[in-house]
This record gives sequence, structure tokens and C-alpha cells, in this order.
Amino acid sequence: MNEQAPPNVQVLLEALPYIREFHGRTVVIKYGGAAMRDPDLREAFATDVVLLKYVGLNPVIVHGGGPEITEYMERLGMEVRFHEGLRVSDAETVEVAKMVLLGKLNTDIVLRLNRHGQAAVGLSGEDGWLFEVTPVPSAEQVGFVGTIERVNVDVLNHIAADYIPVIASAASDRDGNSYNVNADEAAGKVAAALGAYKAIFLTDVVGWLGDPEDEGTLVTRAGVADVEERLPAVSGGMRPKLQACIDAIGGGTRYAHIIDGRKPHSLLLELFTDAGIGTMVTP
Ligand code: ADP
Ligand code: MG
Repeated sequence: MNEQAPPNVQVLLEALPYIREFHGRTVVIKYGGAAMRDPDLREAFATDVVLLKYVGLNPVIVHGGGPEITEYMERLGMEVRFHEGLRVSDAETVEVAKMVLLGKLNTDIVLRLNRHGQAAVGLSGEDGWLFEVTPVPSAEQVGFVGTIERVNVDVLNHIAADYIPVIASAASDRDGNSYNVNADEAAGKVAAALGAYKAIFLTDVVGWLGDPEDEGTLVTRAGVADVEERLPAVSGGMRPKLQACIDAIGGGTRYAHIIDGRKPHSLLLELFTDAGIGTMVTP
């Protein structure tokens, strides 16, 4: 670093090697948690993503919306139930989930990115038949919850060439039934299918913790074999995230990160500074 440069210029100089490394590369970002709900964090996120596009990266956003779906179901007087972490989803539940994911959350994200200066295009797993899904093994208990068998990246490649794709984690099967899909799974499989350089998962914890109760046990770096070995002992929402990191790396992604989305501009911190935050999974 150039010690003579004023601090604000030093920040740019620190970013330069990263900008050079990432230029032209695809980065898949799983968006969720506080970064999607808190108004200030939403603005910060949009600024970050637009900046990525301006400096020559290809950001691809994948989002869920569990808490918002629950909130709307409750407003409609529908029963909200979970079975082993999956939302029990009858046809009406999936209908509401799609309305919330696409009609509300997806358009909100697209509008905000547009407003910050880069045109975004919203789609779900149903557009261009992006995701081919089959029912999860526990479908008898949970109903229309799907797992992604295949990602048809053609539609994404077309959009990402000029716009920022914003993907809602809904999809349908060959018979046209719609399904809920876990957004972490979707992000991991999109990263794999695109051969993305990086996959970044924003969440509401500092990263993967060896002991979920103790922030001091943050795993800062792990190889994919290590993650696979420890996965059976991981529970809750961290499990699909780590599985998604494994999926992404399996598809050629070089780095998968789980970072704290409660921190403003966590994306820029991760990508363009020497700090290194959260958990990094490597091949
Ligand atoms: P998101 O919206 O980011 O998908 P989730 O609630 O699905 O959020 O997943 C993150 C949650 O996983 C954390 O808030 C935490 O409660 C839980 N969790 C379970 N095990 C761990 C672990 N080992 N390390 C970190 N978080 C964990
Ligand atoms: Mg989750």
C-alpha cells in the first residue's frame, strides 16, 4: 500500500488488486435476513451490488423470503407449519409464497437496483425453465417443497450479459405444479451451473460457528472435504447454507463465503478489502 496516499485514496488502492482479480467474473449472492428487511441495510446492499456491476463483475442475486411469507400467511389467517425445517406447503401455501416472493420481494429488489443506477431483471425458477425440480424425499409430510435437479442457465446467461438477474426461489415440475425451494440450495446450484467465481451467502450470524451458541467459535476457513465431514452435525438454517457451499465448489466455484449481512456493506468488505469476514469455503 502507498503510505503517502491520503486514507480515502488508500482505500481505492487496497481495492485495486481485487477489482483486477474479479473483473469479468460472476458472483452469485444469496440475499436474505436483515439485509433484506432493514431499510438502511437494503439501501447499502443495493449500492454494493450496483457498484460491483460498475466495476466489471457480474452479480447474480438469489433470494428467499421465509419471514415475509409467514407474515402474509398469518395476515390471511392461514396455518403456518414446519416439518424438520421445511415449510409444510399445500397448493394454497405455494400460491401465497409465489405472490410474496415475486409480486412483492422480487420487484422491491429490482426497483431498488434500478434506482441506484443499474438495470435489474427479476425472474423465478419458472422463467425460461431455469430450475427443474422434483419433490423432496419428505414430500408426504411437507407437500410442495422441491429440490432442484437441474439449472438451465441459458436464460440467465442472456440476462446477465446486460442486466443484474434477481432470482426468486420458486419453481415448478414437468406437470406445472409450483414448489417452494430453499433459497440457499437455489443459490448454490445456480453458482455451480454458472461456474461462478464466488458464491456469497448473506445471513444474520457472523458465519459458520463450531458451536452455534458461541460467536468465538467462528470457522474462518474450511476446505470442502472438512465441511462435508462435519455437515451431519450441523442443524438449522446453517445446514442448507453449507450444503450450498459444497454444491457451488463442486461446480467449479473457487470461493464460497457465509458472511454477516447485518453489517452494512458486508459485500464490499468481503470483496474489496484485506479484512476477510465470515466463513470461507474453498475446494
Ligand atoms: P437465512 O435467512 O440466512 O437463510 P437461517 O435462519 O435459515 O437464515 O440460517 C441461519 C441460522 O442458522 C442462524 O441464525 C443460526 O440460528 C442457525 N445455525 C444453526 N447452526 C449454526 C451454526 N453451526 N453456525 C451458525 N449458525 C447456525
Ligand atoms: Mg435459510
